[in-house]
Amino acid sequence: MEQADRSTCPDCHALVADLEAHERWHSRLVSDLAKAVESELKRRPAAAG
Ligand SMILES: [Zn+2]
Repeated sequence: MEQADRSTCPDCHALVADLEAHERWHSRLVSDLAKAVESELKRRPAAAG
């Protein structure tokens, strides 16, 4: 079950050919999501509270 060309991502368990690039994609995705959530929260003032 050993494949030299592919690695399994420890985060999402996807088989990836380039784990380094895949991890970069992960951190980019996470930061993009964080920015999106943050701007969404700023856009909508808390109604409840
Ligand atoms: Zn992954």
